[in-house]
Amino acid sequence: MAQLVWFKKDLRIYDNPALWHAMQQPGPTYAIFFICQQQWQMHGLASNQQSLILRQLDELALSLSSLGVELYVFNAETFASIPQLLADVVKLNDIKSVYFNYEYELNERQCEHAVTETLSIANADCHAFHDQCFIAPGQVMTKTGDQYQVFTAFKKALVHQYANLIRTVYPAPEKQPIPNKLTIANELAHHRVVAPFAKLADTLNVQANIINLWPVGEEAAHNRLNQFLEAYADSYDEYRDIPNLSATSGISTYLALGILSTSQCLRGVVSLNRGELQSSQAGYTTWINELIWREFYRHIISNQPELCRHKAYKTDTDRIQWNTDPELLKAWQQGRTGFPIVDAAMKQLLHTGWMHNRLRMITAMFLTKNLFIDWRQGEAYFMSQLVDGDFASNNGGWQWSASTGCDAAPYFRIFNPVRQSERFDPNGDFIRTYLPELSSLDNKSIHMPSSAQADHLGYPRAIVDLAESSAFAKAQFKALNDSKHQMPLI
Ligand code: FAD
Repeated sequence: MAQLVWFKKDLRIYDNPALWHAMQQPGPTYAIFFICQQQWQMHGLASNQQSLILRQLDELALSLSSLGVELYVFNAETFASIPQLLADVVKLNDIKSVYFNYEYELNERQCEHAVTETLSIANADCHAFHDQCFIAPGQVMTKTGDQYQVFTAFKKALVHQYANLIRTVYPAPEKQPIPNKLTIANELAHHRVVAPFAKLADTLNVQANIINLWPVGEEAAHNRLNQFLEAYADSYDEYRDIPNLSATSGISTYLALGILSTSQCLRGVVSLNRGELQSSQAGYTTWINELIWREFYRHIISNQPELCRHKAYKTDTDRIQWNTDPELLKAWQQGRTGFPIVDAAMKQLLHTGWMHNRLRMITAMFLTKNLFIDWRQGEAYFMSQLVDGDFASNNGGWQWSASTGCDAAPYFRIFNPVRQSERFDPNGDFIRTYLPELSSLDNKSIHMPSSAQADHLGYPRAIVDLAESSAFAKAQFKALNDSKHQMPLI
């Protein structure tokens, strides 16, 4: 009797509950992964991220082989093909159990259901585990059994229950004797993809500097985490908002692909914080809060599958008539808005596949409140570029900025990008890195060049009036709010 571990966004051997539990069973363990490029495209996943997934498969195959486990990779194109492909492997090889870790997005959950049903017809059991959260969705609920609507209340409840509910962090399993190869019949062989997977990644034509910025492998991920914990975590509260400093961890890409788990991160920082989640040292507790924000958004999408169908959390905001001007959207995407901090941020995204959190908030608020463009356009564009694109965090961040989400920014509190720039990039160092054409400007005008300066330097003039556009956005949201209060009760 053998076991099969179905890998998804959990491309690691350390702290992988499904792999750990499979390898505690008697009999050999095999590993399987499905490349779903068509599905990834339907989900708008960036080529930048697809490339890293494929490169990580080579690393995963190597790590698994050190445990005596062979990784079998198949082309499934879409999730719809996975149940039958899995059933074919299971039937041909007398596999009795399939192990996997849960995902919380709608299509992923539907796929897991279909797999479980198809495999039960093939007489195989499924064993599923929570690996993406340190406390499983559905376990941190209000007294009335509802989802928390406010982050601070969720955090309080999570901290309170942490000791009882926190999941185990698993070591890598022990090596097994190398088993026989799996039998792969003709039709299955047709779907098989063999290493090196980086070769397939090369066909995506991702910029070399982006690949170099995000080295794959568990060792690279742990090095980045440890370096952050040792050198920067204690001052995270002070410097995390300064985009020109490398004062944040830079681990989001590793979390998105599951090369690292949040439980591993939490264990590392909690041990520095004298075993505490809150109180103790401000740098550590502020970073723990960010990990809890990630957890919060996962719990929300797990509880509200409608969010995966592009619905706003505050459903009444779906009545807003957003601006559909494609030229404004294009100017924002390409970093040509005439607002240096916004443009530099958008160039950072284009050049590195990543953007600093403060800048994600500034650019998202600018798109939704000043250009008054639908947050879904911004959400999709970020997803199409980000190496760390993650549905729950991206959707949560966009709906926070657009004031349509759960515990979102109040609609009347609109960031002024020039004030944000003066505050978080006071000398314009970040702007100069990504907009070298503005390098000659002094530290004051770099935040908002005059029209004459912009013309002289070949930089675009501002595409929108900040005061007018903010007032317009506030009026639209206010009207929505007022009409809600005037609605007759049915
Ligand atoms: P650190 O500051 O070191 O934080 C550590 C970890 O905590 C991060 O890796 C991340 O997993 C989590 N975290 C931090 N801030 C947040 C947050 N606001 N919400 C949820 N989790 C958080 N994060 C993604 O991982 N993928 C996305 O697609 C994504 N899209 C976003 C879109 C918008 C509009 C906004 C405002 C935020 C988005 N975020 C997203 C959250 C955040 O910007 C990134 O997680 C963070 O910038 C990653 O950098 P880091 O690893 O250095 O973070």
